[in-house]
Amino acid sequence: MIHIQLKQGKEQSLERKHPWIFSGAIQKMDGKPEEGDVVEVTDALGSFLAVGHYQIGTITVRILSFEPTTIDLTFYINRIKEAFELRRKLGLVDNPLTNAYRLIHGEGDRLPGLVIDMYNGTAVVQMHSVGMYADRALIEEALRQVMKDQLKAIYNKSEGTLPYKAGLEPHNAYVWGEPGPMIAIENGLKFAPDWERGQKTGFFVDQRENRALIERYSKERKVLNMFCYTGGFSMYAMRGGALLVHSVDSSERAIELTKDNIRANFGDDPRHEAFAEDAFKFMQNAKEDYDLVILDPPAFAKHYNVLGNALKGYRRLNTKALEMIKPGGILFTFSCSQVVSKEIFRTMVFSSAAKAGRRVSILHQLSQPADHPIDIYHPEGEYLKGLVLHVL
Ligand code: SAH
Repeated sequence: MIHIQLKQGKEQSLERKHPWIFSGAIQKMDGKPEEGDVVEVTDALGSFLAVGHYQIGTITVRILSFEPTTIDLTFYINRIKEAFELRRKLGLVDNPLTNAYRLIHGEGDRLPGLVIDMYNGTAVVQMHSVGMYADRALIEEALRQVMKDQLKAIYNKSEGTLPYKAGLEPHNAYVWGEPGPMIAIENGLKFAPDWERGQKTGFFVDQRENRALIERYSKERKVLNMFCYTGGFSMYAMRGGALLVHSVDSSERAIELTKDNIRANFGDDPRHEAFAEDAFKFMQNAKEDYDLVILDPPAFAKHYNVLGNALKGYRRLNTKALEMIKPGGILFTFSCSQVVSKEIFRTMVFSSAAKAGRRVSILHQLSQPADHPIDIYHPEGEYLKGLVLHVL
């Protein structure tokens, strides 16, 4: 195994169990690792620190273990078992009302570079690092051994998530088992997660609990669900007794999926309408006096260098929503950008409120659910943040 020696002082973040090594921290390597290789990391004096996956890029090593460990089938079985047991504790396994959940959440489950979502027995696997992709056969075997008859099929969906430059050319495909119909349930609501053609793994399981909260606020409200994708929030608002629900997304395909999901749960209910339109344009021309608005935009900033522009986008969006919402209305506003911290997000909402000239109070501070755990040593893992606001 190739050794990577860190510069003096650069071992500190590893001693605090942070799982990334940046390229600038490296003193030397005793060979030339291939991308995806498991390497051993030492401090400047040569003492063992950790083992991890090597990759060319800003994050050069993603740590798999802080103990001397062989990265083999047993390693993956142990990690996946631990993650599966956690989901069982959370009541997500064998739950007749919810069969869509995140089984592996990268660093949060001590498997950086790996995401696995479960949809009614189908595991949709996304590899974000070359090392995880290189280990895919081990990961698939470990999944089968740990999940046994809970697992019906494995779909590898890493085409869009691996670094292009690594030249891996992965193809999205079923790699094991027989998938059932693409139907899953979340809190008793049916939806069709299209993992073959949809965004991410097919559905945003991270909003499950926040959607349930919407249901409590929806009774007799006029609801606007911006950036609806497959209409997750809209379904809960409908069940919660909303007077009307308008779902907006710029993608035609998303609007089709939203309509299908609404129909599967509520038939042709005239309370719901869906619009394939740009969010900013829609809000500019909106005629309805909405009193519950949801803003769940895509990550406007994926890197720190575009944070400034992204914040402008978030501010414009939130200002517009705060200007248009009926007095006494409720705004659910989110950001899923990892680089937008809770504090930055709140400051952005603060300046939007000031600009809109509304009285605003915070009712709830939202985050991601427990099947998206945040490793305490890796605060970057807290990517989803939301505020529920009372707007007077
Ligand atoms: N709220 C959704 C997830 C939102 S994902 C859920 O609960 O599942 C973000 C969505 O924003 C995507 O579906 C994308 O098509 C849409 N989108 C991106 N830019 C947009 C724009 N300018 N106007 C409207 N929708 C947009």
